[in-house]
Amino acid sequence: MVVQGVLVRNASHANPEDHEYLVTIEDGLPHSCPCPADEHHQGACKHRVAVAIRTPVLEAARNAQRIQRLRTSGVQATATPPAP
Ligand SMILES: [Zn+2]
Repeated sequence: MVVQGVLVRNASHANPEDHEYLVTIEDGLPHSCPCPADEHHQGACKHRVAVAIRTPVLEAARNAQRIQRLRTSGVQATATPPAP
């Protein structure tokens, strides 16, 4: 299975670089996050929620998965040019 991730940075912290979490996407939905909150609490942490409510980000991750799947399955696009 192709696992894609979205990097979520909490910019409200003094050191945003220390608060970056790679939320993994599975089946087009935020699946897991390496942050302590996601590990110790039930339900989605704020990073997963942040990915879920930002549809363009989620869409981009979905599309990236789709493209990767096509590449790995060896599917080749065929196009027939219109007859002159
Ligand atoms: Zn998290």
